[in-house]
Amino acid sequence: MKKHIIFPGRHEIIEKTLKSLTIKKRTHRIFFYLFLVLFFVGAYFTRRATGSSEVFIINRQPIPFASLTGIFSILSNLSLILIVVLFGKTGFLTSMALLLWQTPRLFFIIFKMKNYAVLPGIGTTIFVTLVIILLHLNNLQIEKYQTKLRNLAVIDSLTEIPNRLACVELLNKLIKNHEKFAVVMIDLNNFKGINDTMGHKAGNDVLVEVASRWKLAVDSGLSGTVDFITRQGGDEFTLIIRNYNSEEDILKSISYYESVLEQRIVIRGKDYFITASFGYAEFPTDADNFDTLFAYSDMAMYQIKRERSSNHILHFTPELLKISEYNTELERRIRTALLQNTIYFKLQPQYDMSHNLRGFEALARMNDTENNVINPDDFIPIAEKIGLIDSVDHFVFENSAKFFGDLIKKTGTDITLSINISVRHLINDDFIAEVQSILNTYGIPAKQLEIEITESIMLDSEDKSLERINELKKMGIKIAIDDFGTGYSSLSYLTRIPADLLKIDKSFINKMNSSESSKQYVATIISIGHTMKFDVISEGVEKEEQLETLRSIGCDLIQGYLWGRPMMPEDAAKLITK
Ligand code: C2E
Ligand code: MG
Ligand code: MG
Repeated sequence: MKKHIIFPGRHEIIEKTLKSLTIKKRTHRIFFYLFLVLFFVGAYFTRRATGSSEVFIINRQPIPFASLTGIFSILSNLSLILIVVLFGKTGFLTSMALLLWQTPRLFFIIFKMKNYAVLPGIGTTIFVTLVIILLHLNNLQIEKYQTKLRNLAVIDSLTEIPNRLACVELLNKLIKNHEKFAVVMIDLNNFKGINDTMGHKAGNDVLVEVASRWKLAVDSGLSGTVDFITRQGGDEFTLIIRNYNSEEDILKSISYYESVLEQRIVIRGKDYFITASFGYAEFPTDADNFDTLFAYSDMAMYQIKRERSSNHILHFTPELLKISEYNTELERRIRTALLQNTIYFKLQPQYDMSHNLRGFEALARMNDTENNVINPDDFIPIAEKIGLIDSVDHFVFENSAKFFGDLIKKTGTDITLSINISVRHLINDDFIAEVQSILNTYGIPAKQLEIEITESIMLDSEDKSLERINELKKMGIKIAIDDFGTGYSSLSYLTRIPADLLKIDKSFINKMNSSESSKQYVATIISIGHTMKFDVISEGVEKEEQLETLRSIGCDLIQGYLWGRPMMPEDAAKLITK
């Protein structure tokens, strides 16, 4: 790992912040401290003065001043004890100093003046000294526990960096002081995948490593700003950036935190490449209160995550509010559509290169209140996020299977029905039973069913997915790898999936005829597919020249507007009977 220069001072800022979170201000107590010290000194001199033989009169009775010595002696000792109890180490040192200060005079009285009347007083002084030492030792113990408690309250126990509470306290303090800052919400990308496939232990190790790199980054000051990193929980972190002049400074600072993740993380011999998504909002320009700042930076973070682009940093803008409102509206719509059975499906034909029908892909559809179609690219990710994707998938699966089963009965067709299954749904424990039941109910031979799984998402939970895929394969069902080329698939990963079909994403087909390298890229995918004994289908074929190119580089199958858009089932039925 890169060696960082540690600037002194940065660490202190963190420590100071942490301390200020739990230790109350003590300025007003200084006065009490001074009072006690003065009281002791006052009592001491009064006691000395009362050593004379003078008397004072109360109710016509003479009372010798000397009888007050005992009271003042008790009071001065009590004030010493109070100082230790209330003022910790300073109190202890003060009390000891005050006790020592008396000693020379005592020695003088005993050894020079041979006055043994002060001996009981010396006994008391020794006793008080012992009490003070014991009290101090006890204080030290309490302080140790206090530090421990403070750490427990504001330090994340797994990663040992400040936690959510520390973050909240610091933000509230900065807001109160009206100090400019940016709050950056950070979420690791594909972390769930590591947890699911490699286990929680490996997941924890990754979190610890990421946190320690970021902590080092904070301490080093190499980001150019004064920062504070905290863990919110799970794979979410919050960075607070201060002392910047421009937006550029913020971006530079965040980029630094992004860059320290570039080097692979090695845990028990396995390599992990971690990236993160960063969304931020500024105080006071974007929002002037804690909750809104948090919500806004969170929104920006989710947006940049959704975009799945190469840029991983986004500043909050008011447009995000509209997107987020739209998403909330979509959420509501998905729930009602499922309740009211208003989700439906279309079927898009797939052909071989000679224009023979190979089968249909079932695609989910949903309308808004004005009956406009909502784009599945918008609602599918939301259904995934709110945990309703299983229901959407199931709905499309069941209804398209019902339609398809009827079609087989009527026409005896041997074409394939392809359905899209989200990985979350695939790894459900009862998924296999669900598939079996649908095949039985609607009389569909397993070899006529194909399940499409998106490559990029599959990486998130490889082991479990592979287990399911192998079970499906054993049942005789076909497997397609959807949107191939958009994820980070490695060849070793491809060889482990017993797929039948590779679907080249339409983004590659779009670019294919504009540059030779894009064409070569598609050609390479096709030949890799063939080496693995997969058929290869190109999605999103819209133009005749794309078809020609694909033909020339050996593509097996075509799906696209050129030969057929997604259509209502009645129209699909007509295509078969034709
Ligand atoms: P996909 O599985 O890759 O489906 C292909 C998408 O490309 C479909 O978009 C299809 O309408 C579109 N397409 C096909 N040919 C062309 C073309 O020539 N030009 C253009 N511009 N587009 C073409 P759609 O229906 O919007 O679906 C988007 C994605 O939503 C699907 O991508 C799939 O990943 C997901 N999806 C759709 N239905 C379901 C479902 O029931 N369950 C799950 N889990 N995902 C679904
Ligand atoms: Mg698909
Ligand atoms: Mg696709």
